[in-house]
Amino acid sequence: MEIIVLGSGTSHGVPMIACDCAVCRSDDPRDRRSRASVHVVMNGLRIQIDATPEFRVQVLRESIPSIDLFILTHGHADHILGMDDLRRYCDLRADGTLPVYCHEEGEGRVRAIYPYALAPRGEKPDGYARFDLRRLPARLDLPEGVIESTLLPHGRIETLGLVFTEAGSGRRFAYYTDCKSVPPAARDLARSADLLLLDGLRPTPHPTHQSIPEALAVVADIAPRQTYLTHLTHAVAHRDESSYLPKEVGFAFDGLRVCL
Ligand SMILES: [Zn+2]
Ligand SMILES: [Zn+2]
Ligand SMILES: [Zn+2]
Repeated sequence: MEIIVLGSGTSHGVPMIACDCAVCRSDDPRDRRSRASVHVVMNGLRIQIDATPEFRVQVLRESIPSIDLFILTHGHADHILGMDDLRRYCDLRADGTLPVYCHEEGEGRVRAIYPYALAPRGEKPDGYARFDLRRLPARLDLPEGVIESTLLPHGRIETLGLVFTEAGSGRRFAYYTDCKSVPPAARDLARSADLLLLDGLRPTPHPTHQSIPEALAVVADIAPRQTYLTHLTHAVAHRDESSYLPKEVGFAFDGLRVCL
């Protein structure tokens, strides 16, 4: 299984517009953070999680050739506003249609923003996106592996937490972005993960996201083999990683690739 971090930044991105703080002016490329998203390759199946406002730039940068399945973790702008650019990946598919998995809140947002992408079969004008909207079940069994999902609290809404288990290798990857906490059921689901990508917004508390200390307490409990914190703000400088974090935990960065 390969995990490609397309973006590791919070909703503002880093550098933030009209900010001249040290991190926004940093010349470390790992401090340049587009909005949070990952691409997972599981036994050759290409799964795209979220489409940020920088989605087109991210997939060109990482040379993503195709997408078999799309998952929307929730409907916030920084996760959904790149979905129009899925049009190219729809065109590359035999039936021109991309399976899009979401929960109720995400589905409502997709229907409100992209009604033209939900045209019935045969009515799709060339070049437009067409989504086959589906509710993500708690467990989705595929020939290439299993995708399990759980709900994570994120202010007034919930985010889909995702755990991928590759068939054959048994490797497990958990993606828990945009959450204020990780409930017991979600901790149990991620407990044997080889890799965890976890919301760890900034050092100080936030009403709808985990702070770095809150995230590290979750990591200590789940004890995955390897963890990267993501959805990072300009309050985090990559070079301070070792002073903030234990050695099995790192800050994610755009372009990070992990092979499990
Ligand atoms: Zn700044
Ligand atoms: Zn969010
Ligand atoms: Zn977000």
